[in-house]
Amino acid sequence: SDSPGSPYRVVLLGASGVGKTAFASIFAGAADSMDSDDCELCGDEVAEKEIEVDGEAATILLLDTWDKGDEWTQESFMQIGDAYLLLYSITDRASFLRASELRITLRRFRPARHTPIILVGNKCDLVRRREVSTSEARASAAVFDCKFIETSAAMQHNVWEAFYGIVRQLRLRRDSK
Ligand code: GDP
Repeated sequence: SDSPGSPYRVVLLGASGVGKTAFASIFAGAADSMDSDDCELCGDEVAEKEIEVDGEAATILLLDTWDKGDEWTQESFMQIGDAYLLLYSITDRASFLRASELRITLRRFRPARHTPIILVGNKCDLVRRREVSTSEARASAAVFDCKFIETSAAMQHNVWEAFYGIVRQLRLRRDSK
């Protein structure tokens, strides 16, 4: 199993208002919040939690304060993640375009193709306010060479599946080394 001493660093990226904080609080749940002392790159808090995926424990260190930082912090987050959840809101086309830009920026910082990235269409409970169709987003994800999932942090729908998906991809990468 994974070494408990080396958690996977998972970064939440996305425009402001898409649901990163909501994701982080679902993840944190009963997890211990740590001081910023534990992570010199994090201005705020980070949450570390051990979860079980496919019968095997994995420790995730979740970084959700990307958009609270200055440019230097943002660039650091682009470099330190082992994996990325790239969020947009299905009710906000501008946030979807922002996710595309972030995907391009990420490719610049992480040219290796093996960094797991999941494109996450959040707020899928708000069906009548949808501005980005599932098929369009799925097509973008294919172009971006990343996985895709729609979630609702408000309904706690598919949020854990997104984290499980990240762990599965990290393991595939680990196992293919
Ligand atoms: P952040 O700026 O990316 O951290 O976004 P927040 O997590 O602060 O969310 C912005 C707003 O959207 C808040 O009012 C949340 O309650 C709301 N929100 C987040 N996720 C969902 C969701 O899945 N569905 C709905 N309806 N609202 C959500």
